[in-house]
Amino acid sequence: MPNDMTVRCECGSVEGVAHKMSGGHVNRVTCYCIWCQAFAEYLGKADSMLDEDGGSDLFQISPGQLEITKGAEFITSLRLSPKGPVRWYADCCKSNLANTFGSPSVPFMAMHTASLEQSAGNGKLADVLGPIRARVNSPEPEKNSSKFAVYLMLIRYAAMLLKWRLTGEHKRSPFFNPQTGEAIVEPILLPKEEVEKLKDIRAKALAVG
Ligand SMILES: [Zn+2]
Ligand SMILES: [Zn+2]
Repeated sequence: MPNDMTVRCECGSVEGVAHKMSGGHVNRVTCYCIWCQAFAEYLGKADSMLDEDGGSDLFQISPGQLEITKGAEFITSLRLSPKGPVRWYADCCKSNLANTFGSPSVPFMAMHTASLEQSAGNGKLADVLGPIRARVNSPEPEKNSSKFAVYLMLIRYAAMLLKWRLTGEHKRSPFFNPQTGEAIVEPILLPKEEVEKLKDIRAKALAVG
């Protein structure tokens, strides 16, 4: 299909397809929050997942746009806080797959561009997925997009979410049973001490620069 991109964990045990990968179906955001950084650290992939300021290059798509084609048995999930997003990853090689809410009712799904197979044939990410719409959650205000840019991004994304909900995309998540709405793997909650350690490592890494 045109605009399909391969999703693959680092070792290749888990594979999937991200469908309809074009600017109109994708919302790109760079997130500098400490939680995304702590998760990259947990996976042992801070170097490949974070930019020099600790930012994660994320893109939001509808749950139905992601299809897992191989290795679903390797998929597992965790949370870093009781109310935080569920972070799905491939346990075989600790590769990030996607963030969702704990229930499928909101069609929220955020993926990292590191999960996409980026070959020459794909062209530049910005040409395929559209521009990064906003940079958010940095403790350093100048690294974040202006309030107006964030507002525009949120309006645009809210419209996408509403459309996806109305068209039933929330029932097509590869991470939830479409009949019962239950997660395919119940996420564990990482112990608070472990999360704090991961955050500390990241804070120190950024301070060193
Ligand atoms: Zn793997
Ligand atoms: Zn984040």
